[in-house]
Amino acid sequence: MTPETEWSAAALQALAAQAATPPCDSCRTLPSGGWEAMPSSLDRARLEPVGTLYPAAATDLAGATLDEYHPNGTRYWSADAPIALGWFPYNRCSVWRCRVCATVFVRYAETGGYFEEERIRRVDPALVVATPGKT
Ligand SMILES: [Zn+2]
Repeated sequence: MTPETEWSAAALQALAAQAATPPCDSCRTLPSGGWEAMPSSLDRARLEPVGTLYPAAATDLAGATLDEYHPNGTRYWSADAPIALGWFPYNRCSVWRCRVCATVFVRYAETGGYFEEERIRRVDPALVVATPGKT
């Protein structure tokens, strides 16, 4: 497990299932299961990079699909939206784990015309899905 590790859905589920419950004081400040802008309440120093959801060799993430995967009518911000590997925004996420409580997060930078916002989502193993056809 290194920052170069590319996580499969099954491996990511297994990793996230190791998280302590309840989470530590820092991770507890992210109660939602959905995407959030990185809150200042979260202690970034506790998070260690453990890999990515895209191939380490990928050099053109901007060319990756912007399509989202919501077979059950969820939306981007839904707390129960699938964590769908290969689909936006998971196809550009890095994987982080709390050194204290082992909670697993995915992070990426959302960019618009005039802004860049760092976003983070807690990984609920029950929501991780492998979606064939997307790489
Ligand atoms: Zn934690």
